[in-house]
Amino acid sequence: MKFATKTLHAGVEPDPSTGAIMTPIYQTSTYVQSSPGSHKGYEYARTQNPTRTVLQNNLAALENGTACFCFSSGMAATDAVAHLLKPGDEVIATNDLYGGTYRLFTRVYADYGIKFQFTGMEDPMAIGRLITPKTKLVWIETPTNPTLKIIDIRKVAEITAQHAVYLAVDNTFASPYLQNPLDLGADMVVHSGTKYIGGHSDLVMGAIICKDPALAERLAFYQNSCGAVSGPQDCFLALRGIKTLALRMQRHSENGRKIAQFLRTHPLVAHVNWPGFHDHINHHVAASQMRDFGGMISFVLKEDTLEKAFTLCSSTQLFSLAESLGGVESLIGHPASMTHASIPRDERLKTGVQDSLIRLSIGIEDAEDLLEDLDNAFNQL
Ligand SMILES: *Cc1c(COP(=O)(O)O)cnc(C)c1O
Repeated sequence: MKFATKTLHAGVEPDPSTGAIMTPIYQTSTYVQSSPGSHKGYEYARTQNPTRTVLQNNLAALENGTACFCFSSGMAATDAVAHLLKPGDEVIATNDLYGGTYRLFTRVYADYGIKFQFTGMEDPMAIGRLITPKTKLVWIETPTNPTLKIIDIRKVAEITAQHAVYLAVDNTFASPYLQNPLDLGADMVVHSGTKYIGGHSDLVMGAIICKDPALAERLAFYQNSCGAVSGPQDCFLALRGIKTLALRMQRHSENGRKIAQFLRTHPLVAHVNWPGFHDHINHHVAASQMRDFGGMISFVLKEDTLEKAFTLCSSTQLFSLAESLGGVESLIGHPASMTHASIPRDERLKTGVQDSLIRLSIGIEDAEDLLEDLDNAFNQL
């Protein structure tokens, strides 16, 4: 089955009891047994819920995995991956990382005696230099947030496989439509389903997808033992969102391409980060591991000041100033004061998060309207 067909049909069957074509929301906490132990695979809803089962099976298929575990948020999914670690273990992570993941690693798990090292990974050899016998996990995001750097998943996977270290890829920015890390050698894919998977800015959830049965067994254990499962209503909304994932990603990418090109030629813009440009430092890697380049773009103004960035962010009409990404509506954000505000200025400058860096999550509106909106906002500068 090809991708768009899978979004609709993989793991999704008409409801066996009624024939309902849409997976019902099984809003129940428990399941009746006729005699002790005689259940039909469902005993208690933290452990199993039929709406969640369908979503998990569908997401496993979309990422070409064999098992998927859904959580109440992307962070809860990341937290479950971190449960694979023990005191004394070491983790190597991208330095250009989702702020919440950075916080979880450095402010929660570092206190449990786990050591985290952060490094740029556009050159995967950086990982080889940091691996020790204690390294248990390499954590990457690609494209990175918010500077859209690209990491070569195949090359990183070769290194982690040589050292028997788990490789987890946070695939939130790309979505399963643009990129399937398990096919490139990753052990686990993590998603914030809150973003492109849900796609309509109306739910918070997360997922882990993997292939190895032993790893799946451990993750299933943590999902059930720690209990941060996604509720049936959110699973239903995610399933509904996924039905248009391919169409949405095509439009996000199409609009992204037009807006990246517009920004690149704008006289007030110094630099645009978008992996679709031929002169993007890892464009060839992006072209080989991604199906298209998506709708996430960031750019820096020639006048690199917080004031100019604030003015631009407050002057758009269609682009809403908000955190998050991946919804059908376009968003504009200022990482230095919003998503990356907790990172000290010197640190963020090192990874390219300049004062005037602006991040766009391009929606599925008509590109002409989005271009006009940006043009008008630039005229306010
Ligand atoms: C939003 C996000 C997360 C966290 O997901 P939540 O659903 O907000 O908990 C993790 N990684 C990336 C790249 C994200 O954008």
